[in-house]
Amino acid sequence: MAQAPAATTIAQDFEEQFPASLELHNRSRTIIPGGITHDGRHLRPFPVAVERAQGAYKWDLDGHRLIDYSVGHGSLLLGHNDPDVTKAVADQLQRGTHFGAGHGGEVLWAEQIRKLIPSAEQVKFTSSGTEATMLAIRLARAATTKSTILKFEGHFHGWNDYVLKGEKPPFEAAVSPGIPDAVLNTVVVLPANDLDAVEARLAEGDVAAVIVEPSGGSWSMLPLDGGFLERLRELTTEHDSLLIFDEVITGFRWAPGGAQATLGIPPDLTTLAKVVAGGLPGGAVVGRNEIMQLLAFKDDPVWNTQRKVRHPGTFNANPLSAAAGLACLAKCADGSVQTYCDRLAARLRTGLNQAIAGRGVPAFAYGDSSVFHIVLGERCSNHVAGDLRQPEGVPTSRLKAAAGPLAGPLQIGMLLEGVDVFNSGGMLSVTHTDADVDQTIGAFDRVLGRLQDEGQLVAG
Ligand code: PMP
Repeated sequence: MAQAPAATTIAQDFEEQFPASLELHNRSRTIIPGGITHDGRHLRPFPVAVERAQGAYKWDLDGHRLIDYSVGHGSLLLGHNDPDVTKAVADQLQRGTHFGAGHGGEVLWAEQIRKLIPSAEQVKFTSSGTEATMLAIRLARAATTKSTILKFEGHFHGWNDYVLKGEKPPFEAAVSPGIPDAVLNTVVVLPANDLDAVEARLAEGDVAAVIVEPSGGSWSMLPLDGGFLERLRELTTEHDSLLIFDEVITGFRWAPGGAQATLGIPPDLTTLAKVVAGGLPGGAVVGRNEIMQLLAFKDDPVWNTQRKVRHPGTFNANPLSAAAGLACLAKCADGSVQTYCDRLAARLRTGLNQAIAGRGVPAFAYGDSSVFHIVLGERCSNHVAGDLRQPEGVPTSRLKAAAGPLAGPLQIGMLLEGVDVFNSGGMLSVTHTDADVDQTIGAFDRVLGRLQDEGQLVAG
């Protein structure tokens, strides 16, 4: 009897169905290193290129409609092309894109941020989250006249020289070439949740600031123990160190006032980006008056040349970003956007875990607020066919490795189903619907089945 032809694999189908993306990638690689412009967009065999986007969807070069869970790397809480944000940007375009001068938009934008973020007494704009953490660190060092920065394993704070250390496992070893040892030696990385280690290190007296993602590292991939941040606040105060909340992800997404509003913990400085600029480039450092005033000129030449913290930047508070940010934050101010996104994300996490339980495969989905993470090939001890905030029994390094070798196959499998998950997870926007979530859960179940069929994921 003739044998049935072997079914095609996920990888084979992917190459066949995204030819225009493959062609562009091959061209791109000859001019852009690796063919990608953000390390997070690395995907084997090649990433998908997008032509346009609207609401919760984007369309790739081959015309597939994809449900988008990367939402502008988290910046598009209102989805693609929100009409009010788009109009604000279009109106500003008519008036000019750069004045090389202060403008009303930046003041309105700063006032709106101060209204929302509890600890924001003053606001200084940057062009990105990476610049925001760099400026916050400089301010902390200037304010305390100490030089060491303490950060936590797996916490991501952008790509500047001070914050990359300890971001990826193996936490002690992995760091980018090109960062001088002298710089690396000013940064101490500790495991999160180890308050004894934090206390002992702070007691040495040289720590300018502790910087932390208040969601837990990597947008809640590495949840924090209850009480950790409260104690961190006490310890930093006791030891004359500053506490920096990196709210680049959590700002305006966790709540209109960010994670600090939900937690009721005031940091000294907060870094913002993504949602703050409504999907355009931009970031900010906000915080206590006395620290922020280190950025201000005075009628004192000695202060201005020796004590003032320097901070230029061609695109700081760019008028287009200010217009987008202001329009976006006005729509995120009453909490209804966040409530909607949180409910939908909880439903998605629940559905993903039900699919996992149904197939009996080692995997789990979890997350906080409006984000979700998927880990394949691991079991957590508290898995439920429902919503899961904090997986137990999996070491931090394994969580951070996320789905590990299966992350790529999952991502391309989901793309074949019309869903773009970003690094084995994603974020929701107010434009996602229950129907999108249902489609995503169905797609995920089928991809799990394919991974089982291919022997990549084994039940039991
Ligand atoms: N901090 C956190 C918590 C982030 O998630 C990111 C970006 N994903 C950054 C800082 C860096 O922001 P940007 O990419 O705008 O430089």
